[in-house]
Amino acid sequence: MSGVKEIFEFMGPGITKKDITLIEKAYNFALHAHEGEKRLNGDPYFVHVFETAKTIAKLGMDADTIAAGLLHDVLEDTKIKEDELEREFGKNIVFLINGVTKLGTLKYHGQERHVESLRKFFVAMANDLRVVIIKFADRLHNLKTLEYIREDKRRRIALESIEVYAPLANRLGMGKLKGDIEDAAFPYAYPKEYKEIERILDEKKDLYKEHLREIHEKLEKELKKSKIKNTEIDYRIKHKYSLYKKLLHYGMDLEKIYDIVALRVVVANIEECYRVLGIIHSLWTPLPNRIKDYIALPKLNGYQSIHTTIFTGSGGIAEIQIRTKEMHTEAEFGIAAHFAYKEKGYKKINENKTKFEWIEELKNLKHQEENPEKYIKDLKMDFFSDRIFVFTPKGDVIDLPQDSSPVDFAYLIHSDIGDHISSVRINLKIAPIGTKLKNGDIVEIVTRKESNPSSKWLDYAKTTTAKKHVKTYLEKHSLLSRLKSFGQS
Ligand code: MN
Repeated sequence: MSGVKEIFEFMGPGITKKDITLIEKAYNFALHAHEGEKRLNGDPYFVHVFETAKTIAKLGMDADTIAAGLLHDVLEDTKIKEDELEREFGKNIVFLINGVTKLGTLKYHGQERHVESLRKFFVAMANDLRVVIIKFADRLHNLKTLEYIREDKRRRIALESIEVYAPLANRLGMGKLKGDIEDAAFPYAYPKEYKEIERILDEKKDLYKEHLREIHEKLEKELKKSKIKNTEIDYRIKHKYSLYKKLLHYGMDLEKIYDIVALRVVVANIEECYRVLGIIHSLWTPLPNRIKDYIALPKLNGYQSIHTTIFTGSGGIAEIQIRTKEMHTEAEFGIAAHFAYKEKGYKKINENKTKFEWIEELKNLKHQEENPEKYIKDLKMDFFSDRIFVFTPKGDVIDLPQDSSPVDFAYLIHSDIGDHISSVRINLKIAPIGTKLKNGDIVEIVTRKESNPSSKWLDYAKTTTAKKHVKTYLEKHSLLSRLKSFGQS
């Protein structure tokens, strides 16, 4: 098998001799260890660990993580013992493999177990994020070979992937992996719905693409005229599962979905993003309320881009996304981009540093390889030091700054929930609305139509979102009462 070279190609020109030696060794070791073993679809077992390692390499991870990907099932599925593996590959890699094995015992038993599963993930992340990334890659390949698994088990794995793995990948900003996991799981989790979405896409895709081709040409010409250089324009078709979710949200009305196919413009810097937006709006009329500036106001998971939706003239509507190269890399790889062990021709993102600062810290630790015990200990530091992760009763993760209160939590879920908090339960117990939330708390908000924000809430609010909403409510309210009393006098 010349397979191992495929991995090297994904790793790009920054690969070192040491990397090559390590990965070749892990490749041959795994090949040998899994010899004769077969997957349910008849493939040699090795194919699975090789595909896992390729995904990890594509995400830009370091050689240790790729090697651990190749070796991730050796301890569980073969006769190889831990001490032998440690002699061959060192503590670091064994640590990663053990982490993945522990995560493997995670079982999905419906919604009530969600929170528990997620907690396990967060513990693993606190130990070493790379473990979670190996697990993602492992799961992705298992999903791709799911058709050979028993039907009830198949659905359970698919659902768990959609409800636990994908949201986590999303939380970590790994947009591409999230979409890949969801799309691989979708046909097994919701077979009927999947077929319906496929049908819709088949029907509409060409038409949408035709629209975009026209816009593409016109825009390209105009950008040249305006001397905007190094621009890449391409299309993206919405991931099937995310289209399905959006359709559910809009009562299955396809006419309300504007971004089934979107044009993506990638430019050199932020200034040009806004210039391009100006050019687009001078060429086509934008739809009102559809201009979203996620550059100035990034999404919670760090996603940045400008989105606008335009009337194409020929009766069509199209979404255009504008972003820089760095933002594009971020949107696709998220946290993994921060692990990229070699700069891969893209500049590091500095503007938005705080977002993944803790990852930077982890990354620096990676180089202390001469002292693996200290390395592992250091990794266990609380990287949630300035962020906390709390859960909805359904197990969704909400990421908040430290010292946040249920007021912040409620407004992050929805302004309607925030505006009508009546009481709060934390870990099933009634708690004051001003309670400081802790990592891992399960927070339930009870709303009542008659309950409304008070000025006291401003003290409880830590996030700008919550502060803004409370202020807006209070201002509106005091204005209304003044108007009322004015009317009475
Ligand atoms: Mn595996």
